[in-house]
Amino acid sequence: MRKFSQRRHLVINRILVLNIEKEHRSKIIEKNDGQPPLTYSLFNLVASALGDPPRPVSYPVFHNIDLPVYPDHEKKFGIPKPQTVGVFPDCKEQNNRINEWKGGESKALDLLEKRLALEKKAYEDGYVLPNQYIPDLLGEPMSMSAHLRFGCLSVRRFHWTIHDLFEKVKPKESKPDALTCQLIWREYFYVMSANNINYDKMEGNPICLNIPWYKNDEILKKWEMGQTGYPWIDAIMNQLRHEGWIHHVGRHAVACFLTRGDLWISWVDGLKIFLKYLIDADWSVSSGNWMWVSSSAFEKVLQCPKCFCPVGYGRRMDRTGEYIRRYLPVLKDMPLRYLFEPWKAPLAVQQKAHCIVGKDYPHPIVNHKEASNECASAMNKVIESFKGKEVPHCAPSDDLEVRRFVCLPDFVSTGGKCTANQLCPGIENL
Ligand SMILES: Cc1cc2nc3c(=O)[nH]c(=O)nc-3n(C[C@H](O)[C@H](O)[C@H](O)COP(=O)(O)OP(=O)(O)OC[C@H]3O[C@@H](n4cnc5c(N)ncnc54)[C@H](O)[C@@H]3O)c2cc1C
Repeated sequence: MRKFSQRRHLVINRILVLNIEKEHRSKIIEKNDGQPPLTYSLFNLVASALGDPPRPVSYPVFHNIDLPVYPDHEKKFGIPKPQTVGVFPDCKEQNNRINEWKGGESKALDLLEKRLALEKKAYEDGYVLPNQYIPDLLGEPMSMSAHLRFGCLSVRRFHWTIHDLFEKVKPKESKPDALTCQLIWREYFYVMSANNINYDKMEGNPICLNIPWYKNDEILKKWEMGQTGYPWIDAIMNQLRHEGWIHHVGRHAVACFLTRGDLWISWVDGLKIFLKYLIDADWSVSSGNWMWVSSSAFEKVLQCPKCFCPVGYGRRMDRTGEYIRRYLPVLKDMPLRYLFEPWKAPLAVQQKAHCIVGKDYPHPIVNHKEASNECASAMNKVIESFKGKEVPHCAPSDDLEVRRFVCLPDFVSTGGKCTANQLCPGIENL
């Protein structure tokens, strides 16, 4: 019986959370003359006019809700195991995950405690957003996104615990805007997707640019299966398929590589694959992020049409190469010097590392320099085609906003100012 009531509590909790947030989002649209506010800063302005979000209730009141539980409730209404309805993971490695993800409210609250300890340490050390400031690709999962996605954790609770914690640790300092900016992005994408059933598509989507992407299912499959020949990209895609979760840094790298960076394949194809594997798969949030990364929306008329380098960016984010060795074990014996571009290793080195490029691991799917130049000129043609026309497009408010979205930390874990010199031209000045 306890199991039934716990499940019932969770379902009701989810309904309550969704309805309350939906109401808040509708108010934002209402306040903005019935239209979603097109830029993130306009969204912030309108949302702040509504005041702080209410605090979460300590316990939902159920007295008006009648949900009888019968002895055969589980048989009739219980949630079946995926296997009983013939659904098996696409990827057998999903049965053998390195990181373990468990759902449910108690797990979400346990994780929130751990997460708060991390945030507290960051505030004491003088920075916020530790998850972005020092991206940890290898540590135990600290992400709240799946819990937020499934209503195991209320967005309000997350928001307020972070704000209260900051006030406690730094009572004399005013709260930085960035404190919960990622949550605001989430709300922004939700609002932008309201009343737009084509939000996950290019055609018929009023905020998405029509870009003539290539259609190439063979190349798309190689990207999905982690066989592009770029270890940084392949390791991330392997982690996605095996574990259903990747860090924001990884999402950015593979999404840019697939679209405007190297392969010039539509963000819509990439989105479908993300939604297939991600444990935090979220229609509004993922579509919004894909549109931005591919320069299809939310970006000031394609002002950063260039891309992340799949070699240099990897080196910067995975300095010891441990991430690649973990998720791409075929390269585990490759010396660090060649780990990010194994095709450059002399044959003797490849033999010693038990990995011959072309036999045990693929050659690069494209030459990054050439491919990124081609993508940049294709994007320039798109820009040209829009000259003199009104672009049905949203623009970010300023560079700082773009920088925050892209998750480019000012400082990297080794300390020192980030020079962003592993990025291809175009966003290096962000
Ligand atoms: C191409 C692409 C696809 C993505 N698809 C999804 C998706 O399907 N579901 C999803 O929840 N997130 C998605 N994200 C956003 C982001 O990568 C994850 O929310 C984040 O990595 C989760 O880790 P965290 O909980 O530690 O985030 P934190 O940095 O701690 O942020 C706190 C919360 O804010 C929200 N958030 C964080 N970043 C963003 C963002 N850029 N946009 C909107 N909300 C954000 C999440 O709910 C997150 O849990 C995507 C990003 C990209 C670039």
